[in-house]
Amino acid sequence: MRKKIIAGNWKMNMTSDVARDLVDGIKAKLPNPLNADVVVCPPFTVLKSVADRIAGSAVDLGAQNMHWEKSGAYTGEVSPEMLRDVMCNYVILGHSERRAYFGETDEMVNRKAKAALAMNLKPIICVGETLEEREADKTKQVVETQVRGSLAELGAKGWADAIIAYEPVWAIGTGRTATPEQAQEVHAFIRSIVRDMAGAALADAMRIQYGGSMKPDNAKELLSQPDIDGGLIGGAALKADSFLAIVQAAC
Ligand code: PEP
Repeated sequence: MRKKIIAGNWKMNMTSDVARDLVDGIKAKLPNPLNADVVVCPPFTVLKSVADRIAGSAVDLGAQNMHWEKSGAYTGEVSPEMLRDVMCNYVILGHSERRAYFGETDEMVNRKAKAALAMNLKPIICVGETLEEREADKTKQVVETQVRGSLAELGAKGWADAIIAYEPVWAIGTGRTATPEQAQEVHAFIRSIVRDMAGAALADAMRIQYGGSMKPDNAKELLSQPDIDGGLIGGAALKADSFLAIVQAAC
């Protein structure tokens, strides 16, 4: 039985005062019992204030990106060690916005994933097709290439700690969600690739989140699909009520 994981990707939003209010709101009304992992992924600048605020609570912390090197002349970058220093346990890697606007390739995502795992950060590795690719019937081809490239040679512990987020690019921030059937089909396909790469036991244990306009009103149906193990939430993670409603749907 895989534990569901709901992660909020705050993207380039929030200053420290608003961020603290948001996590206070989330902490105050977490479902009881809480049968899901809950993670917030704020921008770098507020990681420390959010970390201080969630200390001792069931809310966990992730970053949205990192470099693969430990330190050095990489102006503007942040290392895995720096993320650990501010109490991060997760890091989103290869989000489609990073791939599209910052030129991230599967090879770069793979280097980052290995560096994250080496520092005991759980990578949330994003994959997903564009609308053009879906319409050209290339969804599986694109997703398979991304999974094989981004998760190459992770090793058994790496496979056990890594999380995949299937995020169809056409559904991110558009209000257009994949139907539960569309999402389930790709999730089952991703799990079959993981089975081929890492074996049945690790594939069965691998958590695969769905991301792309997940909202309180569609979360329950998406999360009840057999291969959907959680959500990576953008817009709906910026308000405590909508994020909590999705957490509740996962519990
Ligand atoms: C995301 O950016 O990871 C995301 C899923 O965004 P949204 O929920 O706003 O579509």
